[in-house]
Amino acid sequence: MIDAFIEKFKELPPEAILKTDLLRTGISFSPEALKELTQAKAKSYFIFSFDRVPQKELSELEKKAVPEEIALSGGPWNLKRTIVSVRVNPESPYRINYNPKEAEPFELMQNGRTLCKVTPPERPSYYNTPLGNGKPVQDIAPTIEWGYLIYLTAFRLCQYWGAKEECQFCDINENYRQQKKERSYTGIKTPEEIVEALSLIHEKDTNRETHAYTVTGGSITTALEGMDEATFYARYAEAIEERFPKRWVAKAVVQALPLEGVKRLKEAGYQIYHPNFEVWDKNLFSHLCPGKESYVGRDEWIKRIFDAAEIFGASNVIPNFVAGIEMAKPYGFKTVNEAIKSTAEGLDHFMSHGICPRFTVWCVEPGTVLSKTNSEPPPLDYFLRLLETYREIFNKHKLPLPAGYGPAGVGKAVFSVSAFMDVLKGVDRD
Ligand code: SF4
Repeated sequence: MIDAFIEKFKELPPEAILKTDLLRTGISFSPEALKELTQAKAKSYFIFSFDRVPQKELSELEKKAVPEEIALSGGPWNLKRTIVSVRVNPESPYRINYNPKEAEPFELMQNGRTLCKVTPPERPSYYNTPLGNGKPVQDIAPTIEWGYLIYLTAFRLCQYWGAKEECQFCDINENYRQQKKERSYTGIKTPEEIVEALSLIHEKDTNRETHAYTVTGGSITTALEGMDEATFYARYAEAIEERFPKRWVAKAVVQALPLEGVKRLKEAGYQIYHPNFEVWDKNLFSHLCPGKESYVGRDEWIKRIFDAAEIFGASNVIPNFVAGIEMAKPYGFKTVNEAIKSTAEGLDHFMSHGICPRFTVWCVEPGTVLSKTNSEPPPLDYFLRLLETYREIFNKHKLPLPAGYGPAGVGKAVFSVSAFMDVLKGVDRD
C-alpha cells in the first residue's frame, strides 16, 4: 500500500509519491467512469503510447475516453492539486470510479479505499475543430501538462529501425502502427498544417493557458523528404516564429546534433534544446540505445551536449533521462543503490556545468524490446530515491528552474510524466 511509502519517505510530499506510483503502475477505469469521461480531453497519444497494454487489448471506450491527464486532490492526505499523465493499465490496483452521489464524482481508489478526488481535464473548444484538410487540431497540435504545452510531434516515426537500432524502451514506431488504425494520426506533419492548428489555438486561447510548444519526433539518420535532422526540425520553429514571434517558449527535442545543426535550431527560433541522454551508465547506454551508440556514440553525445550549452546557454540545454531503465532486466543494475549511484553521477556531471537534465518515469510499454524481459517496472523505492537525489543535486548546484516547464512545487507543477517539478522550489522562469 502507498501508505508505507508516505511513511518511509517523509521528506517527499505525498502528492509526489502517489503521482510517481501512478506513472509507474498505470491506472484502470470503471466502465461508469469511462462513460462519464467521454466529454473530457482524451489521450492524444502525442508521441509514444505510454500505456501498459496495446490498443487491441483495450475496449472501445478505453481507446476513446481515457483522459490525457488527471488532477488529484483531497483525500486522507488532503492532497494539493497534482497533475498526472494517464497510462492505461486495466490490471492496475489504482482505479478511477464514478460516484454520482458526490459533488466531485470521480475518485481514485486502491483496493476499495478512496485515495483522493480526481478532476478530468476539460476538452479545449478547438480540440476537434478540423483544419482545411479535415484533420482535427488534436492530431496536429495536442496539448498536455494541463494545457501548458503544445506537443508537436512532427515526425511520428524514428529512423532507428528494428530491435538492433531502436532504443529498447521506446515504442514510437510500434505506437504509430497501432494508432494509425484507431484515430487521425499524421506520420509527417507539414509546417503549414502546424501553423494552421496553432492559429486556431491562438484564436481561442484568450486566457493564454498555452505557454510553450515542443517540436519533436523520431531521429533522422539519413534524410527525410531530402532533409537532414536539423533542417527538417528547424523549419517548424521558423514557420511558427514567423507567424507568432515569441508567442510561446519554443523547445526542440531532437538528437545531440553536430554544432552546425545546433546553431541552425537556435537561429530557427528554438529557445530550449533537449538532446535526450536516456541513461547515464556507459554499458547500459550501448545496450539500451544501440542506434544512438552506433550512429553517434556516447562520448560524442556528451560532447555535443556541452557544445550546445555554448549556443543555447547551459540552463537551456535539458537532456532527458528515462528513469527506471537503469534497473531493466537483463542488463540493468540489480540493486536500487547501484542504480541511484550511477544516475546521480550523471546528474552531477551535467548539473555541475549548469546543464539541468530532467527525467520521465519509464512506462513499460508493450511492443518494446524491454517489455519482453520486464513485465513489471522497477520498485517504487528506486523512483522515490531518485526524486530525493535529483532535488539534492539540483539544490547543491543552485540551479535555476528549467525554463519551459511552468511553475514548480506541490500544488503548482504541471509537468505530468514525472514528479521532478513537484519537488523543486524556485522562481518560475517563463
Ligand atoms: S531516438 Fe530512441 S527514444 Fe528517440 S524516437 Fe528514436 S528510438 Fe525512440
